[in-house]
Amino acid sequence: MTKLHLLKMSNLYAPTLKEDPVDAELNSHKLLLRAAMMRKVAAGVYSFLPLGFKVLRKVEQIVREEMDAIGCQEMIMSIIQPGELWHQSGRWDDYGPELFRLVDRHDHSFALSPTQEELITSIIRDELRSYKELPVSLYHIQWKYRDEVRPRFGLLRGREFVMKDAYSFHSSQESLQEHYDLQSAAYARICERLGLRFVPVEADSGQIGGKVTTEFMALAAAGEAEVVHCTACGYAANTEVASAVLKPQIYGQPDAQLTEIETPIDGSITALAELLGISEAATVKALAGRDAAGQIYVLLLPGDHELCELKARKLIEEFTLLDDEQISDAGLIRGFVGPVGLPAGVKIVADQSLQGLERWLTGANKDGYHLAGVACGSDFEVDIWADLASAQADDCCPECGTSLTMERGIEVGQVFQLGTKYSDSMGAKYMDEDGSEQPFIMGCYGWGVTRSIAAVVEQHNDEAGIIWPLSLAPAEVCVIPLNIGDDEVEPTALRLAEDLLAAGVEVVIDDRNERPGVKFAEAELIGWPYQIVVGKRGLAEGVLEFKTRATLEKSTLPIADACQAVVDLVLAERQRYQ
Ligand code: ATP
Ligand code: MG
Repeated sequence: MTKLHLLKMSNLYAPTLKEDPVDAELNSHKLLLRAAMMRKVAAGVYSFLPLGFKVLRKVEQIVREEMDAIGCQEMIMSIIQPGELWHQSGRWDDYGPELFRLVDRHDHSFALSPTQEELITSIIRDELRSYKELPVSLYHIQWKYRDEVRPRFGLLRGREFVMKDAYSFHSSQESLQEHYDLQSAAYARICERLGLRFVPVEADSGQIGGKVTTEFMALAAAGEAEVVHCTACGYAANTEVASAVLKPQIYGQPDAQLTEIETPIDGSITALAELLGISEAATVKALAGRDAAGQIYVLLLPGDHELCELKARKLIEEFTLLDDEQISDAGLIRGFVGPVGLPAGVKIVADQSLQGLERWLTGANKDGYHLAGVACGSDFEVDIWADLASAQADDCCPECGTSLTMERGIEVGQVFQLGTKYSDSMGAKYMDEDGSEQPFIMGCYGWGVTRSIAAVVEQHNDEAGIIWPLSLAPAEVCVIPLNIGDDEVEPTALRLAEDLLAAGVEVVIDDRNERPGVKFAEAELIGWPYQIVVGKRGLAEGVLEFKTRATLEKSTLPIADACQAVVDLVLAERQRYQ
């Protein structure tokens, strides 16, 4: 058990700020600075002051306990990694400018670790030989470096941040699946113990590799990710990958004739729908793009949906949308592109939701005109049917058909089934039961330690400041003596603080000779979960004032019972985060 010390505000380095820092937009960013948890060093780089460091240690400890509980073993790997390892995996180039690179005095290249698949694979490759030693799962909690294009929002997107990253090695897919499920369950427990409202979502694996992956999203308006969520069956997915069911509408009658209609508008779907007095879902949107080889594609989707470029890029190598100049170079008319009468050689890709829709309203490939009653299959042919649209609110759940809701999320963790991507590229093999050499089957599991601190603050704050869940607060109870120098108030407060401490409660005492208003405001800004106010007037009546930060509710406690009552409350509240 850790030895507890009484924290004294008179001694604490916690320079809180009264005003919001100018360059901070989000509550978490502002409050973590104002409450003296951290200070900015450079864009996306922060130092943690004593209070913030306590919070950081607590998050780490929760993550550590949950990893240890599933048999994942802690180690520590270096931040500086030989460039050679990154060449072996192919990521020296693939990782691009996000990888911080250095060169030593002997002209050797190194990377500052953004993640550790290469290093852990090389450790295992060189040492682990037999299937008998598998599975093995290892983790560390360490600084990571990514030269993000837009470091912003404080701890949410840093260039230097703390991550817990775990890696597992297996001799079968079943074994990987088993550990992946354990990791996912551990991530859900971590979220609960941090007090985070979250959803696990289907996601894209990005450049890390692998196919099966889940992101853990802390729900918050400030989140950069969009998540569709089914409140009926629990299905949730990043809008980038969600396979929602769309409901495009027919324009006109099912047997309508192909008709040109004059549409003297700027070509936007909104203007078109307004002009014809129809819903955007009854129009078909056409977007022009190209692949690496310069092949031109026209992508068709329901007018009320956006193209998901990630989906397009998975389908068409290096897909990019055409700009205005490229559109006219391709012989197309911006705002009026449609599938009928396209220049030769253009390929048509249509969103799968349009399959079976009888008549479409599309651009006429003629300035100021659209075509109504367009019949797919007779007026034109689709070359590829695919899922192209970004899912959005009111689309239907692919599992149960219920309308989806849309929320924003902060990705606090992600688990991946990597398969053999790294063991293949880096030649990491073990000897199987039958004597054959096999590549390791791998999983990796990342948790954003510093990002999750910001996520917690995004979810738990009010006008006065941070509302720490008990599990993360730099101390659980703050004792506030009001009349410093008073020969009854000060000793009573100190005795209470020491009694609480002796009972195992983490206590801070605000023993500074400051005005009560200053002490209250700071206690609220910093966000101690409970405050006990010791004042001359209360003492005369034999009572102390007790305040809960989350609700700002106040009550009085008889002096004699105060310690026990608060200990009981703290112990009960701790249970919620176990
Ligand atoms: P994002 O999509 O937000 O850039 P990512 O998918 O690239 O994140 P991973 O490689 O999955 O991130 O890293 C594991 C975890 O590390 C993430 O879930 C996130 O919590 C955290 N993390 C990643 N990038 C950053 C960053 N720039 N600042 C703080 N935490 C980060
Ligand atoms: Mg991720």
